[in-house]
Amino acid sequence: MFSDYHTHTLYSNHGSGHPRELAAVAVEKGLLALGFSEHFPLPENVTEPTGGSANMQWDQIELYTREVREAQEEFDGKIKILLGYEVDYLPLFDEQMRANLAKYPADYFVGSIHIVDRFRSDHENWLIDYNNEMFAEGVNDQGGGVAVYTRYYELIRDFARKYDHRIVGHLDMIKKFNINKRYFDTDSEHYLSQVEMTLDVLKETGKIVEINTAGAYKDIGEVYPSDKILQMVLHRRLPVCLSSDAHKPDQVGRDFSATWKRLVRMGFEEITGL
Ligand SMILES: [Zn+2]
Ligand SMILES: [Zn+2]
Repeated sequence: MFSDYHTHTLYSNHGSGHPRELAAVAVEKGLLALGFSEHFPLPENVTEPTGGSANMQWDQIELYTREVREAQEEFDGKIKILLGYEVDYLPLFDEQMRANLAKYPADYFVGSIHIVDRFRSDHENWLIDYNNEMFAEGVNDQGGGVAVYTRYYELIRDFARKYDHRIVGHLDMIKKFNINKRYFDTDSEHYLSQVEMTLDVLKETGKIVEINTAGAYKDIGEVYPSDKILQMVLHRRLPVCLSSDAHKPDQVGRDFSATWKRLVRMGFEEITGL
């Protein structure tokens, strides 16, 4: 029996489906729990290069919350429904982010890095998962692939130490556009040492590493994190959960049975729930 703690709705502005529609699919698939983790709105004066389409907006948060609570009532006794947010970490705006988070209590948080500092050229925040062109531009702007993944993993370690978000989202998403190791070598000693340092911090701080099945449908075509990293996770006995990162109802719990079978063959024994 599985639970899915990483899902999006129409309130992400790039997803679809109301919370109750995702909940209906989750019940149909026999999930034990469904967590909604809409992108927490970015601090007010943060600019992103997508015209604000990558995160929930401030005027949507109340409706999102209400619809999740309504789904909780509607499906009471059939499934456990949790209200959560997927939260970015922007060191320059951290005070503001912290104050904003305090105003919106939730059942849990997924901490994820989608922004790796700013473009030097225009001071806009760099979304690492938007498209190929934007990724290439960021790598070029920030001094190459090694500098970029080093910073990416450093940001994960920082937020893991600063926040008690329970789950770490798509741990190696920095690889999303790194087709054929175009920008950096994910098998290199240096890359893996960055991952190792990060996993040590996640262990220390009691995080759950999500195994995100959406990665298989992205350019890189591989679950987040990679098998190599999963072996390292297993070796450290870090708690793991499965997540779909669904952006529409029929993606809830996607590929969970097949993925878990594969993980069991690798040696995983247990999924951690909230
Ligand atoms: Zn994400
Ligand atoms: Zn997500």
